[in-house]
Order: sequence, then structure tokens, then C-alpha cells
Amino acid sequence: MKKFRLLAPGPTPVPPEVLLAMAEPVIHHRTPEFEALFAETRRRLQWLFQTDQDVLILAASGTGAMEGAVVNACSPGDRVLVIRGGKFGERWAEICQAYGLTVIPLEIPYGQAVDPADVAVLLRHDPRIAAVFATHSETSTGVLHDLEALAAIVKQTPALLVVDAITSLGVVDLPMDAWGVDVVVGASQKALMLPPGLAFAALSERAWAAAERARLPRYYLNFLTERRTQAKNQAAWTPAISLVAGLKAALGLLQAEGLPAIFARHERLARATRAGVTALGLTLFAEQPSPAVTAVKAPDGIDGEAIVRTLRDRHGISIAGGQGSMAGKIFRIATLGYADPYDVLTGIAALEFTLAELGYPVRLGDGLRAAQEVLQK
Ligand SMILES: *Cc1c(COP(=O)(O)O)cnc(C)c1O
Repeated sequence: MKKFRLLAPGPTPVPPEVLLAMAEPVIHHRTPEFEALFAETRRRLQWLFQTDQDVLILAASGTGAMEGAVVNACSPGDRVLVIRGGKFGERWAEICQAYGLTVIPLEIPYGQAVDPADVAVLLRHDPRIAAVFATHSETSTGVLHDLEALAAIVKQTPALLVVDAITSLGVVDLPMDAWGVDVVVGASQKALMLPPGLAFAALSERAWAAAERARLPRYYLNFLTERRTQAKNQAAWTPAISLVAGLKAALGLLQAEGLPAIFARHERLARATRAGVTALGLTLFAEQPSPAVTAVKAPDGIDGEAIVRTLRDRHGISIAGGQGSMAGKIFRIATLGYADPYDVLTGIAALEFTLAELGYPVRLGDGLRAAQEVLQK
């Protein structure tokens, strides 16, 4: 018998309450029953996004909402600034390029965070930039970018700030309206404690005005159509009904915990994880670490992919390796969503076994003790 555990930055474990909500018989979506479900779920999402704006619920993976953000914010020929410092920042650039936009890349070395002052300089030198595309928590490197400072800068310019918050939403504070973020994009399989399949997008007044003017081709992801329909508690196309039922349940659990407690829990679990791995002599990859995921450098002579594989095949634990050029060099342990101290301790204990199996010198318990000491406080 082997028990499987997800300690990856998506998909994340789903609580039993949410699994049960999704197991209910499928209802038809053009009914008052669905409208009531959708209305309550949309209200709860506004709470999570800390916004008075509509939060669109889309049947797509996170990338679908990212593509939707691009086609609804931009027009052919637009110049856009893309903060690249990992796979997901690069994805913004790829989507923008696919639609023929002129991408001005701001390259950030992997593992480092953007200096918002650099964005200010670029925006000053190029006042025609229509939008800045940013990643709040760069899951591929484990870096948390300073979105509040970035928003304060972009808000003073005509450019829109479009943010991939897929592993920051429900992990760290992101008061969209208060900070003046124009587009926030989320997905179900991260801190929202759901299976993959739903994506979310919220737009500021400025962003909705841009969506009215936007001239890139769009159909399935036309946010104007979606907003008009969702205002009536309907979805433009067939919604992922069972996932919406699960979303309502998941948001209920999150509301019962409360935002400050959710943010504190993630911070504490990530701190314990960092303490555990550093006590084993390993080095963190991110200079400004995200509480969603801890990226760790693979020790000299040990392939990061072997750590991921051994944890999975021998210990039943899925973590994540490095993506792209970081493959083999780092591994990533997530602490987001339905995660508690025992997930951290399980992960660290299994990592100790794994490292020992791969020939790295560990004293069993060193990482665990360091993690426990953080969790005991
Ligand atoms: C998971 C993730 C995505 C979304 O990827 P999908 O596979 O399309 O759901 C995008 N950005 C970040 C930062 C992520 O962590």
C-alpha cells in the first residue's frame, strides 16, 4: 500500500468538504438553482480578490485567464512591458507575442525579484506602453515580487497593470482595489483547493474601459460578453458546474478561516519549510521567497530531478522540479492551499530519507527539528 500526497505548487490537495460538494448530482446551468449557486460563489470571490468589481469565472486552466487578460486589455500594435523572471513571466511574453504585440522585456535573473524602480524608468522612457504584465508569485523560481510597490508606480501612468496572481491569491495579501491593480488573474488548482479547470479574472474600471476599446481577436474569452452574462448569474458558455459547486464550498472554508489567518498560515508553513531545508545544509533559490512554494537548490552532485523522482516513486510525494533551464538544478516544495504543519513535517521527513538514499549526508531529524521549532512558536 502506498499513500500519495501532493506537495506541488498545483495541483494541490482538495479538502473532503470540497470533494463532496463536487460529487453532488450535476444540475442544469440555466436554472434558478444554478443562478443562486453562481451568485453566492461570485460574492465570495469578490471577498477573496478584495474587490468590488465582478470576478469572472471561466472554464479554463490559469493560462486561459492569462490569454483572456491579453486579448481584452490590448489592441494590435500595442507596446507592452513584460516582467520576465521565470516560466510564468515568460508565458505572458509568449501570449503577447502570439497576438503580435510589441513586447518590451524586463529581464530578471531567475531567483531574483523585480526592482520596481526599473519599471518606473522604463515607463518614463516609453510613455506609449499600454500595459505592464507581471507575476506576483513566480511559481517557477519561488520568488514573491513586490506587487504593492509595482502597483504604486504603474498607477501613476496610463499603462494597465496586469497581474498573474495564480499562486498569490489566497496566499499573500493582494487588495486589488486598494492597491490599484488593473487585472488580477487566478486559477482553481492552487490556493483555492480545487481540481484544475477554473480560471478567474477581475478587472478595474480602467481595465474595463480598455476592454471596450480592445481590438485583438477574441471570442470564447471575450470578457465583455462574460461580464454581461455573469451579472445575471449566468455564464456565457456552459460553466464547469461541478467545479463551481466545489468553489463555493472551498471559498466557504476560506471565509471561515479569514484572510489574515490564511496569510499567516501560509507564511508560517513556508518559514518552517525554509528552516527545515536550510538545516539540512541546502540553499534557498529565491532571494525574496514566496510563501506559496519553496525553491531549493539541488546540492552539488545530486540531480534535482532524482530528488523529485525518488520522493514520488519511493515515498508517494509529488513535489516539483525545476522548469526549463532550471531543470535538475532546483526542486520546489509547495505550502499552498489545503496545507497544514503536518504536510510540512511529512515533506521534510521524506526529503531527509530521499537525500540519504541519494548519497547526500544527512542526519535524520535535523530538518524536522528546525521545522518543528518554527511551528512550535
Ligand atoms: C500554475 C500557474 C499558472 C497556470 O498554469 P495552468 O497550467 O494554465 O493552470 C500560471 N501562472 C502561475 C504563476 C502558476 O503558478
